[in-house]
Amino acid sequence: MCGIIGYIGPRNGTEVVIDGLKKLEYRGYDSWGIAIKGNPSLSVHKQVGKISDFDDLASLPPSSVAVGHTRWATNGSVTKANAHPHTCCRGKVAVVHNGIIENFQELKQELRSHHFVSETDTEIIAHLIEDNLSAGMHFKDAVTNALTRLEGRFAVVAVSADSKNVVAARKGSPLVIGIGKDEYFIASDIPAFLEHTRDVIFLDDGDVATISDGISFTDFEGGVVHREPVEITWNVEQASLNGHEHYMIKEILEQRSTVGLAVDQDDAKVLKVAKMINEAYGTFFIGCGTAGKVGLVGSYIFSTVAKKHVNAVVGSEFPSYHDFLTPKTLLVCISQSGETADTLEAIEVAKKKGCKVVSIVNVMGSTMLRMSDEYILCNSGPEKAVCSTKVTTAQIALLTLLAYACVGRLEEGKRLLNSVSLKLDVMLDGQYLDEIRFLAKKLAGHESMYIIGRGLNYPMALEGAIKMQEVPYIHAEGFAGGELKHGPIALIEDGTPCIALVANDGVKNEILINALEIKSRGGFIIGISPKDNDIFDFWIPVPDVAIASPIVNIIPIQLLSYFTALEKNCDPDKPRNLAKSVTVK
Ligand code: GLU
Repeated sequence: MCGIIGYIGPRNGTEVVIDGLKKLEYRGYDSWGIAIKGNPSLSVHKQVGKISDFDDLASLPPSSVAVGHTRWATNGSVTKANAHPHTCCRGKVAVVHNGIIENFQELKQELRSHHFVSETDTEIIAHLIEDNLSAGMHFKDAVTNALTRLEGRFAVVAVSADSKNVVAARKGSPLVIGIGKDEYFIASDIPAFLEHTRDVIFLDDGDVATISDGISFTDFEGGVVHREPVEITWNVEQASLNGHEHYMIKEILEQRSTVGLAVDQDDAKVLKVAKMINEAYGTFFIGCGTAGKVGLVGSYIFSTVAKKHVNAVVGSEFPSYHDFLTPKTLLVCISQSGETADTLEAIEVAKKKGCKVVSIVNVMGSTMLRMSDEYILCNSGPEKAVCSTKVTTAQIALLTLLAYACVGRLEEGKRLLNSVSLKLDVMLDGQYLDEIRFLAKKLAGHESMYIIGRGLNYPMALEGAIKMQEVPYIHAEGFAGGELKHGPIALIEDGTPCIALVANDGVKNEILINALEIKSRGGFIIGISPKDNDIFDFWIPVPDVAIASPIVNIIPIQLLSYFTALEKNCDPDKPRNLAKSVTVK
């Protein structure tokens, strides 16, 4: 959450930063701002609203140094005053920040002689730096010292009217430096500068980068550290709309190939992780939101394929399991960004208790990946729509592959998933999309809907409900088919839409009966299934792919949520109140 982009180099940094902010908007879009370094002054421009609506670059002064921010508010409402960058009393220092300063009230009390203009925690940093500068410190030391006072997770970039240095530092929130020819980019995420360079340095927690004509790294105590650039494999085309109207539909359709790309892994790595799972005494699958549902379906897949019990826990609830952690425990952490705060905290605790950690993430160089003993990348390319689609199915595919690998059937798992990939390529044609668009028109007028599944498809009912909530804002709930009669069936009225996930598996008849129970009470049944059935009022066909049914069953719901959002004039890429990469708890 919150996108940071900074530029130091020969180009017009103002333009680079505004452009980078537009590419980072998925990380926060309630307001934005930019600090532009003049000589010897700083000008700060802020606006409430989406940066994508801004088209008046000419109104901003050009500069070779600029720092920008697109905000997802945590401390303080969405106002121009609360938008970043925040400045010190004299307007000489500007700061952008991602994260939450947990001791901000205490610090604000200490800084009461300063003039505060916002309600944010971030502004404190600018005033702390100001005090340090007044005490005679150089800018870099003034920033570093200020950071040592902060509790919580943060990524910070600070710029001064009086120093040629830009200082960037992180503790818990992501920050990556792009290295161009005589130029530097500082950003929360790679797509912000991908068109300029693919050579990057991922900052580690506790790193401070000082950038002017060159770049140097220290820790928060000033000790020198060395960081080497790596070349990333993502390309501009993957990070752009590439002819599509929205990232969400682009990413849904990319599932024609991403399931196959996910299982295109180094066998030795997959077998190593499978061995870690087999040798662990207590394995937890941990994720938040959609990744939490992936963990849950993973636990069903492991039970079915590998005959292994795995605990699926959402990141924010993991503290209740801390007492069960031993050096033999394994955490398998699932995240698109690799920056999810609650999951990172689970890793921190687990590491202290001597547990092993594996991560399944999409972003190379992410914090989770670097904190883990082993990792598997999803290979999905950048996912920029706020709601996860292609990475969800890639993660399910990877857990399926691991389950097969755990019982010495890796090749069989690969064959199955590669065949799924081919079938998805056939399934996702224009006519398929048209049919779901037609259904979306019907759904758009409903306030509530329900999704039922059993077995492997129960977690997908839960995930489907997330999709229908977060994109078209429909009150959707997922239930286990068997739970209906314990309460939820009371919600069914004449015409209530209900999706039934009916795979060709051992619970097929039971879930069909549950669908019939809903239909008998007036419900409108949308069946997602390889075969049509009289019970269905609307049938969405999917290929029959045995144990991989969660992958093919969730995709029509992703499409339905997209098209319903369009019907309701909602922005599918930037749902209200949400942002990509949940870096705060
Ligand atoms: N705490 C800061 C604010 O409210 C940054 C929020 C974030 O990183 O999401 O402005």
